[in-house]
Amino acid sequence: MNFTLSDEQKLLVKTVREITEKEIKPRAAEICEKGEFPFETIKILGELGLLGISIPEKYGGSDGTIMDAVLILEEVAKGCYVTAMAALGEVGVQAKALVAYGTEEQKMKYLPGVARGEKILAICMTEPDVGSDVANIQTNAVLNGENYTVNGVKTLISRADVADLFLLFTRFEGEPGSNGVGCLLIEKNTPGMKVSQGFKTMGGEYLWEVVLDQCQVPKENILVRENGFKKLLTAFNTQRCLNASISLGLAEGAFNEAVKYTKERRQFGKEIADFQGVKWMLADMYVDIEASKTLLYRAAINAGKGFPNQQEASVAKLMTNEMAIRVTNQALQLHGGYGYTKEYPVERMVRGARYGTLGGGTSQIQRDLIAKNILRTNRVY
Ligand SMILES: Cc1cc2nc3c(=O)[nH]c(=O)nc-3n(C[C@H](O)[C@H](O)[C@H](O)COP(=O)(O)OP(=O)(O)OC[C@H]3O[C@@H](n4cnc5c(N)ncnc54)[C@H](O)[C@@H]3O)c2cc1C
Repeated sequence: MNFTLSDEQKLLVKTVREITEKEIKPRAAEICEKGEFPFETIKILGELGLLGISIPEKYGGSDGTIMDAVLILEEVAKGCYVTAMAALGEVGVQAKALVAYGTEEQKMKYLPGVARGEKILAICMTEPDVGSDVANIQTNAVLNGENYTVNGVKTLISRADVADLFLLFTRFEGEPGSNGVGCLLIEKNTPGMKVSQGFKTMGGEYLWEVVLDQCQVPKENILVRENGFKKLLTAFNTQRCLNASISLGLAEGAFNEAVKYTKERRQFGKEIADFQGVKWMLADMYVDIEASKTLLYRAAINAGKGFPNQQEASVAKLMTNEMAIRVTNQALQLHGGYGYTKEYPVERMVRGARYGTLGGGTSQIQRDLIAKNILRTNRVY
């Protein structure tokens, strides 16, 4: 496997790194504190054309690969977790699912606005009583003439307060099990849909509850129906990689802060980086990051412009999410008591990193999927 970045990818990384350092990182503390959707920083990414990375040129995007999207979010997350999370819908599974499964009319209607950073996409799977067990969702859509009438409650939804379009996982006609699950596109302000309450998270952003009460959705707004569950989960492998890329960026950002601080801070008459105990911590953090990065880049590069392989994506997600919790905590430790204060960015990175093992499928669910795959394919070395 060749991990050498192309000249275009090196330029992409350089561009996003510079803009993150100059324009996004300086705003990160305020964005995290306020918890509002970071329109300003998302606009910066939109103007650079970065939000259209997963969208074909025909619809105004730049037709990039999963690896390109990973590189963008990794760089943004080094500076601002909330901005990276906000961009995840546009470069991630929402856009990829629309590209893969949308009708030509749907793609022409929605994708150009997404690529320009003007249309925000939300994905609604989780319900108050159904999280990991997605095949069991209770939201139901029943066809009534020209419209589907949709009833249900979705919760912990990112960006729902500002989204223009919702990809809503729903059951159709009450059909039980995974066969009944598909996805509808619902535009904001559709009668019967409302954002009912917000939950401020430890990472900074808000998550929202969305209520569908006799919500009327035109029948042509189906995104997937036949084989819907399988198609949606295949698309979701994109999210597994991109969720992990945010964890990777957070760990790298915290590592950078730790290296800087340990070379500046002096105790016992010398830089703390001169103590073997500190050096070994930095070495362990570096090895942890490199190992995760290799797994993530493997999954992303193998995906090309398609969807990542489930096993590779789950392995990368599990490893990278858990690594980010370790590394950001070690970075905080190396800052001593100051690391615990809001004077330094590491405490914010610790809080952001906690997201990874929960969102996009928990670590337990990734372990479950990995083990199932090993046993099904009789995978041995
Ligand atoms: C920051 C953030 C953003 C999010 N954004 C969105 C969004 O935009 N859209 C959306 O739909 N959802 C979103 N979510 C919700 C997220 O997808 C769910 O939190 C996740 O799927 C887990 O579901 P749950 O919280 O209901 O936990 P549960 O499924 O109730 O799990 C609770 C605990 O039990 C464990 N568990 C469950 N089943 C098993 C099992 N079979 N074996 C072992 N352990 C198990 C879990 O790992 C977890 O530790 C977001 C969550 C976060 C934290």
